[in-house]
Amino acid sequence: MYYPEKCDLCGDCLFLCPYEDMSREEAVEQVRELLEGGIPPIVGNCVTCAACNSLCPQGVNPFHLIVKRQEESGVPEIPQANLSLFENLPRVPSQVLEGKSDEVLCLCSVGDLLPGLFDGPLFRDLTVVKGGDYFCGVGWLHLGRLTPFAETARKALANLEKLERERIVFYHDDCYSLFASLAGELGLEPSFKPVHVIEYVLERLKSGDYEIGKLGLKAAYQQPCASRYTPWKDAWLDELFGLLGVERVARRYDREKALCCGSPLMPRDRDRAMAIKGKNVQDAVEHGASAMVYLCPLCVLNLRKPASEANLENYHLLQLVDMAIGD
Ligand code: SF4
Ligand code: SF4
Repeated sequence: MYYPEKCDLCGDCLFLCPYEDMSREEAVEQVRELLEGGIPPIVGNCVTCAACNSLCPQGVNPFHLIVKRQEESGVPEIPQANLSLFENLPRVPSQVLEGKSDEVLCLCSVGDLLPGLFDGPLFRDLTVVKGGDYFCGVGWLHLGRLTPFAETARKALANLEKLERERIVFYHDDCYSLFASLAGELGLEPSFKPVHVIEYVLERLKSGDYEIGKLGLKAAYQQPCASRYTPWKDAWLDELFGLLGVERVARRYDREKALCCGSPLMPRDRDRAMAIKGKNVQDAVEHGASAMVYLCPLCVLNLRKPASEANLENYHLLQLVDMAIGD
């Protein structure tokens, strides 16, 4: 998952980190310490956004190296309540809700956070699986833990393979990123094709079965951290926004410069998390958005209050789809 032997000590990863303000020399020094097994300040300060994996031109995956050091050192200290929450997620009761079509939609353990998202015609006939058996474990990286991430990912893959499907649609960006990108680094080879929910929605909308009304909305998109692992998805999202008549405002904190929603920081540094949320929402307002649009349900839960307070509307992407097809 990390390849220190490829590092040429250019310093880009930490010099360009969206949350740090350090010189290139300081960045190189901290990377050197990381490589040598030390615990430089970035280990405690890292927001766990995964951006530096994509910033690194050599494919070192410095974020995963940081997570490794976090796991080894216990820095930063994560409250036990948060660790326990993740430890218990695999024990959340699981459900397989058989639908009429062969298509399976996996909701991971986050399917019930935003009720009603899958009531529309695009999802009505799908078989839905959700609960602890399908918890992908990618969230463990936000808690600085590589080992439980890898163990949970293996179990989720085994449970999904029992369904014996050629393809599985994933709602949670974490799950798609795991099975479409991270799995290979864990030595896992899914027997099914992972399909992202945006990819699935595009297929359905382009089938011609639905009349699509343009929404005429100017929106700021909140990119989930996990999207860093699957950058090709951004073209699908732009195509979907085009079909829906939504202008994705060209703001500072989108695409490569996207900011985390603040959720991973809340348990360990609430003030810093709130400052990041404030910057994010302010950026949306300054670039003319009238709404925030989300893909990850946890981003919705974390940003909707400050966004509402800044007079922005809040929509999950799938709500926009329902609105555009008049459901
Ligand atoms: S994961 Fe994000 S916050 Fe952490 S060092 Fe990398 S870019 Fe910075
Ligand atoms: S991890 Fe990558 S970006 Fe960071 S110093 Fe090494 S080569 Fe450069």
